[in-house]
Order: sequence, then structure tokens, then C-alpha cells
Amino acid sequence: MSDFDVDLFVIGAGSGGVRAARIAAGHGAKVMIAEEFRVGGTCVIRGCVPKKLLVYASRFADEFHDAAGFGWSVGETTFDWPTLIANKDREIDRLESAYVANLERSNVKIVRSRAVLEDAHRVRLLATGQIVRAKHILIATGGWPHPGADIAGLEHVISSNEVFHLKELPRRILIQGGGYIAVEFAGIFRGLGSEVTLVYRGDNILRGFDEDVRAHLRGEMEKRGITILTRRLVEAVEKVDHGLCVSLSDHEQVIVDQVMFATGRRPNVSGLGLDKAGVQLDDKGAIKVDRFSRTSVRHIYAVGDVTDRVNLTPVAIREGHAFADTVFGGKEIVVDHSDIPTAVFSEPEVGVIGLTEAEARHRYARVDIYKTSFRSMKMTLAARDTRSFFKIIVDGETDRVLGCHIVGPEAGEMIQLVGIAIKMNATKADFDRVMAVHPTAAEELVTMRTKAATYIREAAE
Ligand code: NDP
Repeated sequence: MSDFDVDLFVIGAGSGGVRAARIAAGHGAKVMIAEEFRVGGTCVIRGCVPKKLLVYASRFADEFHDAAGFGWSVGETTFDWPTLIANKDREIDRLESAYVANLERSNVKIVRSRAVLEDAHRVRLLATGQIVRAKHILIATGGWPHPGADIAGLEHVISSNEVFHLKELPRRILIQGGGYIAVEFAGIFRGLGSEVTLVYRGDNILRGFDEDVRAHLRGEMEKRGITILTRRLVEAVEKVDHGLCVSLSDHEQVIVDQVMFATGRRPNVSGLGLDKAGVQLDDKGAIKVDRFSRTSVRHIYAVGDVTDRVNLTPVAIREGHAFADTVFGGKEIVVDHSDIPTAVFSEPEVGVIGLTEAEARHRYARVDIYKTSFRSMKMTLAARDTRSFFKIIVDGETDRVLGCHIVGPEAGEMIQLVGIAIKMNATKADFDRVMAVHPTAAEELVTMRTKAATYIREAAE
């Protein structure tokens, strides 16, 4: 008999773990996967998928409003939060069932239990106490919302875990944070009719994004009535008669019905027994891995947010797939983490790939910038004061497109396609050779001819 019960034990049935389990099983491995909560992980259960459904819901208000300019009279509209949440839950249940069915069809054994490492080859299932001996182990436990500082009244604050299950739509909500989740939920709640205050500790939202994108999005969010308070922190939250009183670091107080912190996520490693197995963490608490997602222990691997590389679902899926192909499929695959397109489902949407202007100017001797801001066609009859923004960053020496940044409707859809061109090392001349599709917003990508600026780096002494 083999010394092992399984070839692969996966801890965590989220995007990365599920993909790895299915591909490994497809290569003939005997695979077991443990999940302590729900199969599907953050993305499916309380992340990307339910969030996007809420984003869709939030956009109807604009459509009803804008319809008038096109001759429609839309009667009185009402919105019912419990209906949205119930329908969203039904869809999430359906997706979870599909994930389970796919795993079972791939001959992966699912165990509904928290799993912890006993040593480098043995995993304990807490639900039954059973010990499973595994030849290889994959840790795919994702991340967990982190509330930042331990302020007074933190028990009144919700995170992105709870926001999907609120009993009612808050009339007034304060969101702390300036990243993906904060700006996305600010747009969702505003679209659904809430008064929204966003509190961010830095100068402007979406740190790390191109400065023009940050400025444009902030302006558009403010035009929609979202109050953005920067260089401030939430210092305390207190329950009062008519809601929650939020004290800010500038001594202002804001009364709201709900407070949500979207202050980042941390790798989910607590209590996993990593020390017993000898798996090392980096200085930020993420599992240290090499380019094959291998940890400090030869036969233990980790993928996705628990490794804090690029915390996005498609990246976790790629990492899980590459791990399974490498270890069980006899093909060494290294995931390319460069030039990853990403979208922020804010209102308006943001889609970006590649370098920001600041990064390009830091790395390249000569950088050409093309950018435009315009009112899209639909907004004219809608009489809506909103503008889209497009920016292309080009290596002035080779003409290669280094980055593309879009703010506006369907930016996420557009950037996926721009990503193909950028991964193929397209030049600005390649973009220009493409005939425009008229009338669209995306045609700006192939019609921007006038440089907004050229930056030439001074040669180092
Ligand atoms: P982000 O890391 O994007 O943003 C965290 C925000 O919280 C930053 O603005 C940060 O400020 C601020 N912050 C951090 N610590 C504190 C603190 N102690 N006090 C006050 N503010 C603080 O995390 P999110 O929570 O928004 O999202 C988590 C991850 O999920 C992201 O990394 C993203 O990759 C992923 N995600 C992706 C989505 C998508 O692809 N559309 C959607 C949602 C999430 P500062 O900028 O100063 O550090």
C-alpha cells in the first residue's frame, strides 16, 4: 500500500484551489479538497460574482433617468433590496452547486471541513478528526478582510463579508478605504439611492493607479453625489439613537446607518499549522513561494491571495492550473504576472493594463502620452454630465504601447481586448493601423493621433 492516502490534498475550494484540484485529477492524481465554508471561495460566494450582480442592480437608476431624453416616460420606480439579495443568493447557490458538480465529475473528493497541517505530509480534518496523508499539499486559503486599526466601536463595522447580507439598504453609509472594494461599493450604494461618504487616509482614491485615472474617477464619483473625504481616518464608531456616529481624525462626526471598512485583505493563514509543516511566511504574513508556487517545503505549494502576489481571481486560477500541470502533468509552467489587465467596477468603470505614466517615466528614457476625455454619445441626449477618459502610454523610442487606461462605460470589457494587443507587444502604429468601429467609445483607442505630452528623461551623470 502507498504511504499516502492521496496524491494531492487541497486546502480551500476557492478559485485557485478548485482549478488546481480539477486539473490535477485530470492528470490522473487522486485528489481531495477541503472547504470549511462554501465551495467557490471569495470570488463566487462573497466577492466578484455577487458584487457584479449588485453593480448591475445599481445601474438601473441611471437608465431610468436617462430614458427620458430618448423619448421614454418611465413611471415611478421603486427598488427592493430584499428581492435583490434573495435573487443574488439563489444565483450563488446555483453556482456553488455547479462548482461541486464539476469537482465531483472530475473525481475530486470534497470534504466539508476545516483542514489544518499536522506536519509536512499529514492534514487533520477538524470536522471528524481524521488524518489524511498527502503526497503533495496545496494551500489555497485566500485572504480575509482586515479592519486596519482596532478602533472603539469596531463591532458596529461591517466588511465585504457582511455587506452581501444586510437586511435592508442603508439610507446613509460611510465606507472607509480607497481601494477596489471601497470605490465599487460606493458606486453600488449611491446607484441604489443611499447617501454615501467615502473616507480615505491618502490624498486620492485608488493608490497605485495612473494619476489621471484617479483624478477622473474621483471627479465623476463626486458628480454623482458621493462625498469623498481624503487624508482622514475613522477613529471611533458609536451607536446612537438614530444610527451610528462616526468620529473622524479631523474631529468631524458623521451620522450614518451603516459603516463598512474596505481597508484591505490579509492572507488567510491563521491556525493552519504552517509552522508544524515548516512552511515559511514573508514579512507581510503571506506564504513565500517560488515561480512554480512552491513553498519552503518541497512538496507543499500555495496559490492565490494567500501568497499575496497579484490578488485577483484569474491570477489564482492561472496559478492553480500551472501548479497542477507542473506537478502532475509533466509540463513546467510559470505564470506570467506581467501586464495583467484589471477592472474596477466603480461608476464609471475603470479598466487598466500595463504601466502608469509615473512608472513609464521612471523606467523609460522617452515616453509619449496620448489622452482624451469626452462626453460619450449616449450622454448627450441623456443630458448627463459625465465624461469618459482614455489614455495610452507609449515607449517613445520603440513605439511599443506600455499602458492603457480607460474610465467609462464598459471599460472592463474594452481592457480585456486591449490586453491581447499589449501582450503581443503592439506598437502605437499597430493601434493606428486598425480601422475605427464607428460610433463607439472604443474607437478612441485607434484614433488618438496627437500627443498630449512627451517626456524625455535626463541622462544620469
Ligand atoms: P485594497 O488593497 O485595494 O485597498 C485597501 C484600501 O484601504 C487602501 O485604500 C488603503 O489605503 C486602505 N487602508 C489600508 N489599511 C488601512 C488602515 N489601517 N486604515 C485606513 N485605511 C487603510 O483592498 P480592498 O479591500 O479594496 O480589496 C482587497 C483586494 O481584493 C484587492 O487587492 C483587489 O486586488 C481585490 N479586489 C479586486 C476587485 C476587482 O478586480 N474588481 C474587486 C474587489 C477586490 P492606502 O492606499 O493608503 O494603502
